[in-house]
Amino acid sequence: MFLKRYVSDLLHLAFPELCCICRKEEIIGSDGLCDSCIKDLPWTLHNLIKENELVDRLRFQVDLEMGGALFYYHNEGPVKTLLHQLKYKRNRELGLSLGRLLGSRFSSSPHFEKPDLLVPVPIHKKRLRERGYNQSLLLCQGFIESCDIPIETNAILKRTYQKSQTKNSREQRLKHLESSFRLNPRCDLSRKHILIIDDVLTTGSTVKAIYESLKDVNALKLSVLTVALSKS
Ligand SMILES: [Zn+2]
Repeated sequence: MFLKRYVSDLLHLAFPELCCICRKEEIIGSDGLCDSCIKDLPWTLHNLIKENELVDRLRFQVDLEMGGALFYYHNEGPVKTLLHQLKYKRNRELGLSLGRLLGSRFSSSPHFEKPDLLVPVPIHKKRLRERGYNQSLLLCQGFIESCDIPIETNAILKRTYQKSQTKNSREQRLKHLESSFRLNPRCDLSRKHILIIDDVLTTGSTVKAIYESLKDVNALKLSVLTVALSKS
């Protein structure tokens, strides 16, 4: 016992574990968070509530098997900082940590039905070049550390650029591209349960667009988990 503690103390000195939010060296739990961050974060507890606000927001538009978010997103506060770091500050490690958190919280949920595939939300090539990674894929990669599920990156594709939109502003064009998807004809998702993992759900337009692209798939089950749910 004493030796085990000694070895773990030595490892901690050599490779101090930092809280994945405040990046301070504190007492880190299995979630990779320190006690004060755990206390301060606006947890939704959706892992314990099957009929939660995320499911509600998509009701009548998307036929969901399971849905939920880890945190509420407000215009200020730690969750905004986290998502900003993930999207614009090239913080890959944070993406993996948040994915691990989603995995540890939801794969142990009483409502969790293990999906057949994880499908990251594809991002446009232009965004991928700017960001250096797809944050949704990082979340999936962190997720599978606690729940062994294959990741299918090619199931859903971004629609190609449409010339008729050239009159729109660059931002409008990117927005349009971000919300249009198509099913990869080479990918057979029939009778599969797929789980989409994304960073934030606001109006749900991305999930709705993905759902639209999958509506001809026979007996498909769709679940959605996000890091954050913004107040609508
Ligand atoms: Zn912390």
